Amino acid sequence: MKLHFLGANRQVTGSRYLLEAAGKRIMIDCGMFQERKFQSRNYEPPPVDLNTVDTLLLTHAHLDHCGLIPRMVKRGYKNPIITVDPSADLAEIIMLDSAKIQVEDAKYKLKRHKKTGKKAKFGYDPLYTVQDAQNAVKLIQPVAFHQPVQLGDSITATFHESGHILGSAFIEINIQENGNKQTLVMSGDIGQWDKPLINDPELFNRADYIVMESTYGDRLHKDSGPIEDQLAHIINDTVQRGGNIIIPTFAVERAQELVYFIGQLAKADRIPDIGVYLDSPMASKVTKVFHRWCKYLDEEARCNPSTKGCQGADVLRFDGFKLVSATEDSIALNTLKGPNVIMSSSGMCTGGRIKHHLKNNITNPNATIVFVGYQAEGTLGRIISNGAKEVRIHGQNFPVNAKIAHLHGLSAHGDRDDLLHWLSDCNTPPKQLFLTHGEERGAEALSKVIKSELGWNVTVPEYQDVVELG
Ligand SMILES: [Zn+2]
Repeated sequence: MKLHFLGANRQVTGSRYLLEAAGKRIMIDCGMFQERKFQSRNYEPPPVDLNTVDTLLLTHAHLDHCGLIPRMVKRGYKNPIITVDPSADLAEIIMLDSAKIQVEDAKYKLKRHKKTGKKAKFGYDPLYTVQDAQNAVKLIQPVAFHQPVQLGDSITATFHESGHILGSAFIEINIQENGNKQTLVMSGDIGQWDKPLINDPELFNRADYIVMESTYGDRLHKDSGPIEDQLAHIINDTVQRGGNIIIPTFAVERAQELVYFIGQLAKADRIPDIGVYLDSPMASKVTKVFHRWCKYLDEEARCNPSTKGCQGADVLRFDGFKLVSATEDSIALNTLKGPNVIMSSSGMCTGGRIKHHLKNNITNPNATIVFVGYQAEGTLGRIISNGAKEVRIHGQNFPVNAKIAHLHGLSAHGDRDDLLHWLSDCNTPPKQLFLTHGEERGAEALSKVIKSELGWNVTVPEYQDVVELG
């Protein structure tokens, strides 16, 4: 049997693998390459024939794991896509949203190039359309955790909790070939332990081969104290000054975690009664998926089954909190008398409604802008969070007078010690551990630690490497 590494190798996005075993070709994830340097791979012909793939297994619904599925379907893929219940709903939201962006980007590129006389290397066809994404959604077959899925006579795949986002899984693949039984474990993305909404990652006690992410392979998350305490301080301090609290947030998971933490503070009267708005159509849809699949949440976050007419996760509801979807409701937030908490996407301020809220608040010394996650190089979020005195938004310059704050500890990815913890129950060394989904430095650093602490064979594959397993 063979494993092809087709993305997220010595870089973080574009997760994609092809397993050839027992006469089957199984793809695991098919994510979009998001780093500028690697984006051309989204357009290039795929390195393997996708139409001969029998099944696609999806670990979770982040764009860097599912974002190229509609492209694959556009190229003719028609077989099942298997993933866990909530991931099926989330992947639909994310692929459709991505399709709209692809179509708009392609149009915009054509317009820009007409003006400048440039020519696009891959033409002006969008990567895929809404129709392609809808066709992909039709192929999804949702399953539950721990329910082995039979892929032909000799292979089963079982999804286990990976604690990263709602519905996220690592996949255990058992293969019977030539009288030999082999187990391959694909990590997907591994989360942190003790998160309020999501179950802890599960452990496993044996595997012949393991493929593990290494996003934070060389880092430990900074401990800045409980998130509720950090948030209470920021909110109370800003309310006293009379300004708004503006939080750029990612629509999936991060937004719901913030709603949870602010809800806890409101219910415990640790913050005053103020309006709390989640202003993002996508985050609103995602929050509804949390309600629908509340049985997949951490035990404390599920609705109380004894409550009659219970409709989802009560921890994501509290007085004063509103989901905002319609454009006119979003615009109406500008006229509200403060102070209020406004959460909006995108999380790195690269587009979307957050830009309007920044324009309305960034010049106000009484307001606070709160960053809740990683801000990539070159993004407006990075520029503001680095302390720029003036920023450009929608072609206009604004002095940054608002207070800038950072909330630490909300990462969806485990750090180095979490990744080691995830391996800790595996009591016999695997034949090989492959590290992927991490920049070179992180992956190599983690490889060293695992080799010296556990004595395992570890490799960090390159893009398009093919290894023989057996
Ligand atoms: Zn992820």
